Amino acid sequence: MAQFTSDSIERVKEAADIVEVVSAYTDLRRSGTRFAGLCPFHDERTPSFSVDPAAKLYHCFGCGVGGDVIKFVEEKEGLSFPDAVEALGDRYGVEVQREREDPRAEEQRKRRTRLGELLERTAAFYASFLWDSPQAQKARDYLAGRGLGEEVLRDFGVGLAPGKWDTVLVRGQRASYSVEEMRAAGLVQASQKGRGDYDAFRSRIMFPIRDARGRVQGFGGRAVLPDQQPKYKNSPEGELYRKRRTLFGIDRARPAITKAGRAVVVEGYTDVLACHQAEIPEVVAVMGTAITPEQVKILAAYTDEVVLALDADRSGREAMLRAQTVASGKRVRLRVAGLPEGKDPADLLTDGDDSARRDAAERFRDAVSNAEELPVFHVRTLLADADTESPAGRDRALDEVVPVIGAMPDSITREELMREVADRLAADPGLVARRVAALGRKPARSAERPSRADGGPPAGSPAPARPMSAREHREEALLAMCVASPADGREYLERLTPEHFSSPVAARACTWLREHSEDPTDSLSRDDEELWAYVTRVAMRSEREPASAGAMELNFLELELARVDDQIAAANENGGEPPVELHRRRGELAEQIAHFDR
Ligand SMILES: [Zn+2]
Repeated sequence: MAQFTSDSIERVKEAADIVEVVSAYTDLRRSGTRFAGLCPFHDERTPSFSVDPAAKLYHCFGCGVGGDVIKFVEEKEGLSFPDAVEALGDRYGVEVQREREDPRAEEQRKRRTRLGELLERTAAFYASFLWDSPQAQKARDYLAGRGLGEEVLRDFGVGLAPGKWDTVLVRGQRASYSVEEMRAAGLVQASQKGRGDYDAFRSRIMFPIRDARGRVQGFGGRAVLPDQQPKYKNSPEGELYRKRRTLFGIDRARPAITKAGRAVVVEGYTDVLACHQAEIPEVVAVMGTAITPEQVKILAAYTDEVVLALDADRSGREAMLRAQTVASGKRVRLRVAGLPEGKDPADLLTDGDDSARRDAAERFRDAVSNAEELPVFHVRTLLADADTESPAGRDRALDEVVPVIGAMPDSITREELMREVADRLAADPGLVARRVAALGRKPARSAERPSRADGGPPAGSPAPARPMSAREHREEALLAMCVASPADGREYLERLTPEHFSSPVAARACTWLREHSEDPTDSLSRDDEELWAYVTRVAMRSEREPASAGAMELNFLELELARVDDQIAAANENGGEPPVELHRRRGELAEQIAHFDR
């Protein structure tokens, strides 16, 4: 891989203003020679995050994160090291030099840069055509009629593609781009009758789709003429544009998402614009109705709470329920904002005069703040659709809601939801609770398992509840931290051996996580019930476990101490004297733990 010259990296660090970079995510106040603020990496009430502008370093005394400006951009914007260096280079006008690049990689990089430039200049052309051309009057009227002001449209670089067949083609050729390059960028397409190429977008309002760094990847085009088909047309999948990992508006929403602690997902370009105009900036749109795992992953880099604000019609509801599957195992809480059926945010936020819009924005903010947890939304949807007239209909409804509730963590929300279900289905609350509890210890499969012939407990009988030992707690906590913080976690997962664990299942979970720490429950089969239950618990716990390098190291030392204690005990039991080496190691560990800088 191509490396940047160390001189380039130094110049980027020199030019970058760390206070400015960090300020996009948290408000900083000067205190002496440093700046302090609430940590953008963990949830806190009193500031323990500190930035040193002279040394260009940051550090959190709460969760232990720290590093230089490049590290900050890597962590906070979810970029790789080279991308972070380039992003900062772009932003602060430093050209980064590479040493000895592999010629093919170099060629590829240059091509991407060229295609990116082509898209940028085309976006600029569309925008100037929208605002300056007399032919664009209809489009301007349409946008004004949708309640979108010039300011937000210019902000997002919205433009218009002319109606002619070859405007973009000719302009591109004049700027020395080949037809092949214009095709690769999705701007022109070949005629099916073999009569050459023509502009892919004509008479369409053009929304530039940018990546998290603000680089144009493609366009969404909305028809201007009444009988024009299709109504919406996006760039084709290509070298730069990939629908599945694109979120419209992410470049502008990113800092707002971190500050607000949540991302709001809407369906269309105009919804995003309408929200920004209403000063609700933490909003992105999915490209299509269903949110993809890639999109959830992008959002998870900035926040752990995603609010779906999709139209509550049938397809919107189905999209939201599918999101549940997509997000399972990711460290993201999904919520659903209740919007009136048949209305999208753009309709709600742009209707009527100024005061009506202010009210609508207030209501939208409330709906987002009071969004219900997705499983709650799911259960209520099922109840609303249920036939509650007959006992058979109520039984069916109960069958449907029990697995949804069973998958929720134990909580007051869950308790209340069970009461609500009992109420709606005119059932005894005890029945609902028993059904949910039975599901927790007896998955459908175990009923088919033959009962054991060796006189052991019959299959499916619940294991007697036993409080966890401190060591078991620690084992689980460390594994959860490895999941919560995979970068540091990798090292610990490698260092942990079966001897560090007090049970075989914990050791097996560790082995599993070594390969699957990014998505622990993703391909985990329920056939191995014990492993499944353990890993699921770890994944759930990882959402709450504050993972810091310090806490991980301390937990590791404690487990290491337990392992050495086991060895000493085993040696004693065998009647022998434990080797001096073991006692020395035990002493060292006890010392390290006692003096651990918490
Ligand atoms: Zn922190």
